[in-house]
Amino acid sequence: MISAASIFKTIAQLTCLSLPVILMSAQSYSQEKIAKPAKDAPGGQYYTVGDFKSVKKIDSHVHLTEDLDTAFISQAEADNFRMLTINVYSSPGDPIEQQQDFAIKLIKAHPGRLAYATTFSLKNYNEPGWQSEVIAYLRNSFAQGAVAVKVWKNVGMQLRDKNNQLVFVDNPRFDTIFNFLAINHIPLIGHLGEHKNSWLPLDKMTVKNNHDYAAAHPEEYMYLHPDRPSYEYYLKVRDHMLQKNPNLKFIGAHLGSLEWSVDELAKTLDKYPNMAVDMAERISHLQYQAKTNWKRVHDFFIKYQDRILYGTDMRHDAMDIVNEHIATVEGLRKHAHETWLRHWRFFTTNEKMKAPEVQGEFNGLKLPRQVIDKIYYKNAQRWIPGIPK
Ligand SMILES: [Zn+2]
Repeated sequence: MISAASIFKTIAQLTCLSLPVILMSAQSYSQEKIAKPAKDAPGGQYYTVGDFKSVKKIDSHVHLTEDLDTAFISQAEADNFRMLTINVYSSPGDPIEQQQDFAIKLIKAHPGRLAYATTFSLKNYNEPGWQSEVIAYLRNSFAQGAVAVKVWKNVGMQLRDKNNQLVFVDNPRFDTIFNFLAINHIPLIGHLGEHKNSWLPLDKMTVKNNHDYAAAHPEEYMYLHPDRPSYEYYLKVRDHMLQKNPNLKFIGAHLGSLEWSVDELAKTLDKYPNMAVDMAERISHLQYQAKTNWKRVHDFFIKYQDRILYGTDMRHDAMDIVNEHIATVEGLRKHAHETWLRHWRFFTTNEKMKAPEVQGEFNGLKLPRQVIDKIYYKNAQRWIPGIPK
């Protein structure tokens, strides 16, 4: 049998609530029985393209940071999507307080349509009061309605300690914070490490979006920085963090940085029952694998149907939007609609199709209705309970 790996080679939040809440066993996320789809379900076993608008859906990974991004909300209303907008701490980025205020403003203006994930500052990481500062900030975010917390790849790639050494996510200084999230049942969304393509030369990359991002962000393109840690090292420290925090609900953003192989991702999900993944900006990698190993990708979705959340990473300054010079409300709405519909077609039908990020054709996965309902809606609700119903 050809493994995805060999193909790859050969082809090139609330308040600080009642603290004594009962911890949900991490086991319960993995032990749900995979039910067989009911053949006599009303309307048949599968959805069609025509069902796109009528089925409730959640995009659990977007970044709404400017007024222009409200275009995505208008389109979400038209296409029956709810969204989770995610705050991100980065030193050159907008202050997290500003991101939070903006998210809250949008949520108030569009009740029932949006929720937000807060984040925490790393600015004073090396100061003794940093942990209590973070906990106070998060407590306030949860009081204002944040339903999750994001940790970004700058942990491990940019953050440095007093001795100028890189700090990784399994550093004991994060434990107090992650434990605080675990006892409050707040999920952590982690973009940790990077897709494997980042360690490859541009001409060996499997999908266009990674290629374009690397070309545009040489400072983040790991292949150009052999002095930096390996792809595998980032997975190792992430796994060590999961091992240390078995009661933390963790959502690995971008297919948990294991986008290139459903087999490898399956192994990690088996090892860490407290982990789910979102598909944000990595659906192209599933499509790429479906070109040569359709059944494996399909079967992965059947087996892990309770652990995968639909997400896109939609934002007005996303690479593809910038490259296509889309800068109007109408343009953004059209882009969002086309992206969401293309993904729907990929997951619900077995049509032969193309995607802008992938060379060549692949077939849709034609997943049963109940799997679609989970990846598009029910899993987000279960893993991120505060998300709009
Ligand atoms: Zn993102």
